[in-house]
Amino acid sequence: MRRPFVAGNWKMHKTAAEAAEFVGRLAAHVPAEVDVGLCPPYTALAEAAAAAAGLRIAIYAQNMHQAPGGAYTGEISAEMILDTGANGVLIGHSERRQLFGETDEGVNAKLAVAHDAGLWAIVAVGETDAEREAGETEARLETQVARGLAGIAAPQLADVTVAYEPVWAIGTGRTATPELAQAAHAHIRAVLAGLFGDEAAQAVRIQYGGSVKPDNAAELFAQPDIDGGLIGGASLAVDDFAAIAAAAAPRS
Ligand code: PEP
Repeated sequence: MRRPFVAGNWKMHKTAAEAAEFVGRLAAHVPAEVDVGLCPPYTALAEAAAAAAGLRIAIYAQNMHQAPGGAYTGEISAEMILDTGANGVLIGHSERRQLFGETDEGVNAKLAVAHDAGLWAIVAVGETDAEREAGETEARLETQVARGLAGIAAPQLADVTVAYEPVWAIGTGRTATPELAQAAHAHIRAVLAGLFGDEAAQAVRIQYGGSVKPDNAAELFAQPDIDGGLIGGASLAVDDFAAIAAAAAPRS
């Protein structure tokens, strides 16, 4: 049985003080059956992590560099993320891929470093509109998963969440239908089973991301292979994010 996991990706929003205040307000709304995480900007990681200490709210960086240190102006290492008190890192978000040239090989290098550092990872994958129109969705997802997770041993998967985020649904208001999202999640799980075996694949949480809101979260999360969500815009307001987290709680 996979525990649902809902994470908020704040992108380039919120100051350190705003992040700490958000964490404090969210604390009362974390459902017992749901894991909750936040991805603040680097500048707010330490304050968010301090505010989240002792609460059931994990803090993830939005990216990191794979090198341990060196002449990489503007970058941040796994050790630096750990130093903030954060628990994990989001790797391969489509904005990193599209705007900053992130490759599957880069995702793979970062994932290995994150694992060695003891950071949990959310690895984001997803097809573009053009890829879906061309009938390439399944092949694209398979490539991203196989290359992004190459060299990872099955036991390491316990620290990895996959986020399926169709690029055409991110920040557009065009949410995937529950059926379409479920089909993509089932495909990703089948790819994981081929790579790591069925038992390991069944244990991996696969989040859906792309215009999830309080009013569409429940029907998405009710799908059998959708184990929560990675939430962008709707994670910026405590009430909306709390409602989405509540929608991920298993229904009896
Ligand atoms: C995201 O950026 O990961 C995301 C899913 O954004 P939004 O929820 O705003 O579509």
